[in-house]
Amino acid sequence: MKKILTGLLCLIFVGLLLVLGLNLKASAVKDRYHYETTGEIMWEIKTNEKVVALTFDDGPHPKHTAEILDILSNYNAKATFFVVGENAEKNSDLILREYNEGHEIANHTYTHPLKTTLANLEKELKQTDELIYSITGTYPELFRPVEGQYTDQMIQSVVKKGYKVVMWSWHQDTEDWKNPGVHRIVRTVLKGVKPGNIILFHDGGGNRRQTVQALEKIIPELKKQGYEFVTVSELRKMKDADPK
Ligand SMILES: [Zn+2]
Repeated sequence: MKKILTGLLCLIFVGLLLVLGLNLKASAVKDRYHYETTGEIMWEIKTNEKVVALTFDDGPHPKHTAEILDILSNYNAKATFFVVGENAEKNSDLILREYNEGHEIANHTYTHPLKTTLANLEKELKQTDELIYSITGTYPELFRPVEGQYTDQMIQSVVKKGYKVVMWSWHQDTEDWKNPGVHRIVRTVLKGVKPGNIILFHDGGGNRRQTVQALEKIIPELKKQGYEFVTVSELRKMKDADPK
């Protein structure tokens, strides 16, 4: 009797595990391989051209974004700014400057919520889109989720609205928002840089003095190595043109 009971309990336990496992599988977020294959999310591209995309999140910041724009302009480098709508509203002059100097402006929500509903995300994206349009006369095409966190449902929704979702090269996360020191930011970028990389910096969300100082070293060094700095949409076109 005892044996039968133990056997039954074992069966129930295995059954539960199976059900749990299947559920987890059903709700799992599709991975990078899936989304790179569909082309709905981009992390980087493979190319033989010596190009990289510098990207800046969470701005504009009245002081640091202006400083970054000065450096970019000195080296004729183009970048992509994933702006937060409420910062863009307060610093519309900097949005216009980014646009006039040939940089790409992309959507990074309106209030930068770490957790929100899909309905609110859609509302925030639209709010930021309309704001950018009112300043530059063009709508952003790219969206980067807050902290790079996404769900399949979110991707389906934003893709349907016409956005391209952009992450960053995993080895090019400078973590500059932690203020790790100028040297560390420079080293993160230079040690593993490859053609087609998307490099992640922040121009807003705090004191970005280290980011500014790191860029003063990174840009001339990469230029010396023969790199050009293109926008994410330019990089995307290079991927589409590449038969590989
Ligand atoms: Zn952000």
